[in-house]
Amino acid sequence: MGYPIIKNKEGLEFLCSSKIEKINKVRHFFSTRINSDDEFNNFSLNAFNEDKKEKIKINYEKILKSAEMNEKCFVYLKQIHGNNFYVVDDKNYKDIIGKEGDALITSSKNIAVGVLTADCVPVLLCDYENNVIAAVHAGWRGTYQNITSIVIDYMIKEMGCCEKTIIAAIGPSIGPCCFEVSFDTAQKFTFVHEKNKKYYVDLWQENINQILKYGIPKSNIDMFKLCTYCNRDMFFSYRRDNGTNGRIGAFIQLV
Ligand SMILES: [Zn+2]
Repeated sequence: MGYPIIKNKEGLEFLCSSKIEKINKVRHFFSTRINSDDEFNNFSLNAFNEDKKEKIKINYEKILKSAEMNEKCFVYLKQIHGNNFYVVDDKNYKDIIGKEGDALITSSKNIAVGVLTADCVPVLLCDYENNVIAAVHAGWRGTYQNITSIVIDYMIKEMGCCEKTIIAAIGPSIGPCCFEVSFDTAQKFTFVHEKNKKYYVDLWQENINQILKYGIPKSNIDMFKLCTYCNRDMFFSYRRDNGTNGRIGAFIQLV
């Protein structure tokens, strides 16, 4: 558990997990909506300027350079709140960009895999011994469909990963403070609390539970505890902003 490292490079501010940061051969970032110049933000992927009502050009080069990633390729999916994932490699990466799914795994160098979120939980995973990384988009539907656990299961059974050397980071997302759900949705989850006859789900704990059940040590898990709804200055929130187009990106790459 721990507050993320905040980096500010090239005029872009982004967050890193202190646990993943220690691994030399892995680069990663969780972007924010913060900008240090006057532009709305060219670090938030798929951003939308709410003042000017226009789409912002996505500046991948700047993002990759800031996070010291190689610029070979940047893979993300058309996310559909399911539990489908793809294994990306040097040969197939171009075909996978934009396909429907919610998680990506790779053991190939220089491919950045990532997810885009605005309340849903971004989970980055890496096995530092066996050189496998993954990015998972886990909203409540994906979490309910065990997407994080499905990805870890595949990493261990099919890609030679070991539970002791997998590191996980749970990025900024809607917290148990703000994620109110219906009674019916609450019934689907374990980590639920009731306050003034309203039900709140803790998607962070739900995903941590999916990670722990594989025997990954608690000390290998980094949970930011940053709520996208509470922190308006830093993050987009789909719920708070009535279905904003703004997203933060969570990307990881082996170098
Ligand atoms: Zn909150």
